[in-house]
Amino acid sequence: MSVNPFLAGAAGRCPNCGDGALFAGFLRVAPRCESCGFDLSKADSGDGPAVFVIMIAGFIVCFSALLTEIAFRPPIWLHLVIWLPATLILCLALVRPFKGLMIAAQFANRAAEARSDDPP
Ligand SMILES: [Zn+2]
Repeated sequence: MSVNPFLAGAAGRCPNCGDGALFAGFLRVAPRCESCGFDLSKADSGDGPAVFVIMIAGFIVCFSALLTEIAFRPPIWLHLVIWLPATLILCLALVRPFKGLMIAAQFANRAAEARSDDPP
């Protein structure tokens, strides 16, 4: 069974089997894979996903706003109406795949926190 843990994680699937759900809520990691029984409770991505989401969403929104200002010079309220919701949507769309990706990276690199054979 060869599952790419990164693709599985980014898709919100268990990095071990690529089948079971990784998340039990929007960002809450399931305690255990429902498909293969893999212990996901030790997986902890910490602040990792937030860093990437801030940098990527910040880059996209800042340069989009800058280019829009240069090209069209819209009033400031229009900037706010466009870019505040865009920032929110972009961050919410990115944070889950990146959290899955971080957990998959822990799994693939056998990070101590993500190992299932550690003594309790
Ligand atoms: Zn699994």
